This record gives sequence, C-alpha cells and structure tokens, in this order.
Amino acid sequence: MAWTERQHRLLAAMGLRLLQPPHEDAVAVAERPAAARADEGVAVALLEPPAAPPPRPAAAAAAPVRAPVAAPAPVLSAAPAGALSTLGWPELRDAVAGCRACGLCEKRTQTVFGVGATQARWMVVGEAPGEQEDREGEPFVGAAGQLLDRMLAALQLTRADEPGTPPERQVYIANTLKCRPPGNRNPAPDELSKCEPFLVRQIELLRPRLILAMGRFAVQALLRSDEPIGRLRGRVHQYQGVPLVVTYHPAYLLRNLPEKAKAWDDLCFAAELFERQGGA
Ligand code: URA
Repeated sequence: MAWTERQHRLLAAMGLRLLQPPHEDAVAVAERPAAARADEGVAVALLEPPAAPPPRPAAAAAAPVRAPVAAPAPVLSAAPAGALSTLGWPELRDAVAGCRACGLCEKRTQTVFGVGATQARWMVVGEAPGEQEDREGEPFVGAAGQLLDRMLAALQLTRADEPGTPPERQVYIANTLKCRPPGNRNPAPDELSKCEPFLVRQIELLRPRLILAMGRFAVQALLRSDEPIGRLRGRVHQYQGVPLVVTYHPAYLLRNLPEKAKAWDDLCFAAELFERQGGA
C-alpha cells in the first residue's frame, strides 16, 4: 500500500518505522529488540531506542479510514461565570493569574494559562501543569510536552506563534487546570469545576476548528464522560459545535509505549477530519 508523507512523519514521531521487506508491502514495525520480534515474519532492523511499542499489524495499518460518526452533543458545562464571558484574551489571562478560587493557588509558582496563536485553528486540551510547567509558566514543556511537540510537528502543526505560519498549522494548547496539583497528583473534582470557566472562555475566544482532548480529565471536562479513552477514540464528538477528537495523554504514552500506535491513528484521524471540513 502507498503511505502518505504525513503518515511517514507520524510514524517517525511516534517512534515507529516502516520497513520494506523484499517483494512485500511495507509493514510498520516498532522499534524494539529483534528477539522480541523473531516470530513476526517481517524484515526488521534493530533500531534505537531498544524499548518501544509492538508492531502495528499490517492489516490494521492498511485498514480504511474510519468514517467519522457524529456522537450526540454532550451535556454542556455550566456557562462561564458571567464576568468571564465578556473578557478578551488579556483580561482572561489576568483573571487566571489572580485566581484564588481553590487551594492550588497556595502552592503554585505561577499560573499556566495556555500557549499558541489566538488565531490557531487547532486546540489541544491537556490535564494540568506539572513541575516544569509550573516553573516555566507554559503548558507541556516537560517530557510529555516534547512528545506532544513531535506529534504535532509530524502533522506540520506548531504551538509557535510566528508571523507567516498559517492558522490551520497553528495549535493553541491549554489545560483543564491552570495551576499545578502538588506532587503531580490527579486534579480534584472541585479544582476542575472551579477552573473550568477559564477553559470554556478560552475555547469561546479561540473558536478552534478542531479540539484534541488528551487524556481522561480533558474528556471529562469537555464531554462530561467517564468512559475510557479506548471507547471514545476513533469517533467525532462535539463540544459546543466544535468537532472534538479524543486521544491518549502524552504522559500516558510515555508510560505505555504500545499505545503510541493508537495515538498515531487518532492524529491521522483528526488531520483527515480537519482537511475534510475544509482545513481552514
Ligand atoms: N500534562 C498536561 O496535561 N499538561 C501539561 O501542561 C503538562 C503535562
């Protein structure tokens, strides 16, 4: 089968390589020790790093793109607190910086508002700042962020707000929480509900063409769903009329390398959806 350039880039970003066995179609294989792949019957080379995900079965790799299925509209969150719904970007950023609505304000170094061009057509929603994000004031700057950036770059997307980059190539990144939960613990329900109006207003201001919800807290906030990611991915959901695609959180991918191939599928799915709806 023919692989598009974008698929090649995504494979590389996910730590997967395409090998071309003689007289066979290309097969996507994972970068893991040859011994572990001895029974797979495909031509492989030992690639660095040695520990990585298992191969994508050729059948799955060749599967036709799933048709997006519109899910029922989610039950929407409470409207943003009256005051927020009139705020522009600078005022909203100030409101976040001054927020003392929950206990997280006591321990934070600073709030982590969001990053990216405010005309970006893509939006990524993650969970909460970690230690490094708390220090630097920007979402996804640690190891998970580096993986996220590589994944985005594979789709020719960037968080950089540089003149000349078309909005359809730009991504705005925000979290469900704007302050770091101490010790990187999970966000607590009251913290999520207090912080949610900020994210709601960010989405209202940005009006993205596509939202990628990464991980269960983003999914809970935006879709009001406790279903596992595995059951929500591969479909088009809606948030306030904006198409939303669910995928694994990059930090989860770092701990569960085999799931990278699924995240690759999700990104291809999102990119195809974006293009199908006009791309601009
Ligand atoms: N994980 C997140 O969800 N967000 C960040 O900003 C960093 C790690």
